[in-house]
Amino acid sequence: MTQEPVVSVNNLNHYYGKGSLKRQILVDINLVINPGEIVIMTGPSGSGKTTLLSLIGGLRSVQQGSLKFLGIELFGAGQAELVQIRRNIGFIFQAHNLLGFLSARQNVQMAVELQDTISPADAISKSKNMLEVVGLGKSIDCYPDNLSGGQKQRIAIARALVNHPSLVLADEPTAALDKQSGRDVVELMQKLAKEQRTSILLVTHDNRILDIADHIVEMEDGCLVHDSQREIINHASEVRNNHSYSL
Ligand code: ADP
Ligand code: MG
Repeated sequence: MTQEPVVSVNNLNHYYGKGSLKRQILVDINLVINPGEIVIMTGPSGSGKTTLLSLIGGLRSVQQGSLKFLGIELFGAGQAELVQIRRNIGFIFQAHNLLGFLSARQNVQMAVELQDTISPADAISKSKNMLEVVGLGKSIDCYPDNLSGGQKQRIAIARALVNHPSLVLADEPTAALDKQSGRDVVELMQKLAKEQRTSILLVTHDNRILDIADHIVEMEDGCLVHDSQREIINHASEVRNNHSYSL
């Protein structure tokens, strides 16, 4: 039995700016992410990686082409649908984006409480359990400022995974960490993703972590120029040229 992809992107284009300032940022993107798969996306700064992540995460509206999340079309989706989609996604960013005035447990608990009704006692125990899973059982009541970069990113992982989302989007999650902490963080994400059967789309510049990927894709100048599962190798200039002919 073939399972429905978590994400299916078809001929997706995206533009920033208006009138003469309008620029095409994403060109004819095609990408499939299957359940439980760890996808690593590489590519130079400015190549469109964050833009693509924000579209997949329902943080921006799809302008052109098709983007399906668990079979639901995001092109033309309303805000309420996008909120539903976002509930099924965990986000991890380069800066951990933790709230400094909340403890580790409270930061995770906030994500739990955004979900459907759960009693305060259950929300607390769920948050504590998740922090134990990421190895922060002793730091449950600590505040982010008193923790290391790696520990903060582990709180962010706990927060992203506590609701067992279908997909985690991680935008350069190890960029602010030293080599060993970065490695520990991605290995933890890999372990949890396999246990929970969560898919991960992880953007990184760090070639040393490519080995954790099931699937590697590379962006260049708004185009997906390499996909290890489809064995496509394109040059961004060709993709852009072909695309302009088809308009
Ligand atoms: P990456 O994550 O690969 O560095 P981005 O998706 O952030 O790439 O950016 C792709 C391109 O789009 C860059 O040229 C960037 O300057 C531009 N860009 C990003 N966000 C915006 C925005 N909100 N408005 C206009 N241009 C943007
Ligand atoms: Mg980026």
